[in-house]
Amino acid sequence: MSQTSVARQALEQLQRSVHAHFPPPLRRLRNDPTVDQQVRRSLVEEVMGKWAGEETPEQVAELRAELARAAEEAYDGPDPEAGPLNGLLTQFRTDIEAAAAELGRTIPLRPTFGTLPIGRPNAMAVPIESDTECLVVLQKGLFMFAYLLAKPVASCFPLAPGAGEGSAFSTAPDGWKAQVAADPAIAERFADTVLSTLCDEYSGATASQRYILDRPHAVLATTITTGMELFVVGHEYGHIIAGHVARGKRVAAMVGTVSCEEIVREWDDEFVADMRGLELSVRAMQNQGYDLSLSYAGADFCFSCLEVLGNGVSVLLTGEEGKLPPGSHPPPALRREVLREWVRRAVPGEHAEGPLQLGKAFEEVVRELWDRTKPLLVRAHEQKVPLANLWNPG
Ligand SMILES: [Zn+2]
Repeated sequence: MSQTSVARQALEQLQRSVHAHFPPPLRRLRNDPTVDQQVRRSLVEEVMGKWAGEETPEQVAELRAELARAAEEAYDGPDPEAGPLNGLLTQFRTDIEAAAAELGRTIPLRPTFGTLPIGRPNAMAVPIESDTECLVVLQKGLFMFAYLLAKPVASCFPLAPGAGEGSAFSTAPDGWKAQVAADPAIAERFADTVLSTLCDEYSGATASQRYILDRPHAVLATTITTGMELFVVGHEYGHIIAGHVARGKRVAAMVGTVSCEEIVREWDDEFVADMRGLELSVRAMQNQGYDLSLSYAGADFCFSCLEVLGNGVSVLLTGEEGKLPPGSHPPPALRREVLREWVRRAVPGEHAEGPLQLGKAFEEVVRELWDRTKPLLVRAHEQKVPLANLWNPG
């Protein structure tokens, strides 16, 4: 891409104005580059210690991806080219574009992705003056949140009897319920992720501590997160492929104290983008060798993440779930149901069962762990703990 990309310039300008108006520090602990370096160093040491001599190139790549997510959350600079997530997003774009080519889908506009504290889990499409490009801004820290949520959720599923390195998991409710009951760290880590994401003042046991799962569960968590991220990127490509960019409605928007415009679309267009996004992300995952179930589960899990974030913000601000005005996109539960319905229709009976079952298992585990987290957020609401800057900029 050329240096004079209109979308890049628009993104950079927006990022500079938002950062200029943002109350420093963006985030108290993770904003400190020395802390970030320490976290990264200890993470590398831990992983290398635990998996000593057994790392495959894929695992090294996974580790690098985790570091990119962590670094992006800590990153406070305005230059999108230097943003740590850039490499990861470039990879996702390459994967999605390859999938689109294979599926015969034409991409008429080139998207540029960036992150900003937009204060909501759904992406924001920013209008720019270009016939060849478009600009999409994601919530800062969204991918790291998904990953930190996927870890405790993945660790609930016991390895199926006889499972070796191929790692088959048991998703039967009895198994994961027993696991949640037996290991209190699972629910604590889930709650820590939600609280440390939504409250700057929170400093729980694992808020600043990373932990490493055993290898099969680490691989499951990474796989689900990658599927989720590819779906998020694929959804935006879905809008482009379906020709939605030109026909959305331009409305005034705020990022913190900075006013800008965004493109808002009809719910029907969002469902179409979900379907296209699913098609692209599943193909991209299958191209990496994952089966249909694992390729699908990340997209399904995406809506669980959005649900936890939406409910989390609502409970912290109002003491109850579902009290905030609806945003630009349909509710996550409805989008998830539409996605599953599409799988039921598009995939022949016996092949649809695996992906739907895995998606449902993840949803149920997330709900179980959310139910244990919610009272902590109710208490935080009663104590008037403010919503984190990243979610309430300005
Ligand atoms: Zn959309």
